[in-house]
Amino acid sequence: MNKKVYIGLGSNLGNKSKNIQNALDFIANIEGVSVKKLSSLYLTAPWGKTDQDDFINQVIEIETDLSALSLLYRLQDIEIKLGRQRDVKWGPRIIDLDVLLYGEETIHLEELEVPHPYLLERLFVLIPLAEIDSELEFPDGTKIREVLSRARARLEGNDIIKL
Ligand code: ATP
Ligand code: CA
Ligand code: CA
Repeated sequence: MNKKVYIGLGSNLGNKSKNIQNALDFIANIEGVSVKKLSSLYLTAPWGKTDQDDFINQVIEIETDLSALSLLYRLQDIEIKLGRQRDVKWGPRIIDLDVLLYGEETIHLEELEVPHPYLLERLFVLIPLAEIDSELEFPDGTKIREVLSRARARLEGNDIIKL
């Protein structure tokens, strides 16, 4: 059965927009994955570890019949193919591919937390998510619109630029 899944892409090293495009091409070629929607690209200040270059971020919607873990492993293979090194926590990276939402599922595995644990804290994820699906609901029934307006109020001054 096909699941609707959202993936967050980010890059802040090298040719950032090219890295995002390359990752997108690899994702589109994963067997059992079909890319449905792309958000705009956003230029965003670094999160968590702020002494590094800005990021380019994007969110995509895919449909897949892969399990959540299989999908994570495919995404990790792509990160490695594009040259990502095991690096400092929240440090600079060529490419970062996170599973944001996997259908309506809540997953608590050592390797995989879904919804992504920092989803609600990150405008650079919430804004592109709302751009591609303004009616989106989280597994607990909360709506992206409400989550985003609360996050905007709380994270004021931490906005992001649409490219
Ligand atoms: P953050 O998860 O806060 O965005 P990060 O993306 O920099 O940080 P990584 O170093 O890329 O973190 O990943 C660390 C580990 O997070 C991975 O090895 C993976 O097993 C785990 N992980 C847990 N939940 C997820 C998820 N939803 N998507 C991607 N990786 C996840
Ligand atoms: Ca991440
Ligand atoms: Ca990651």
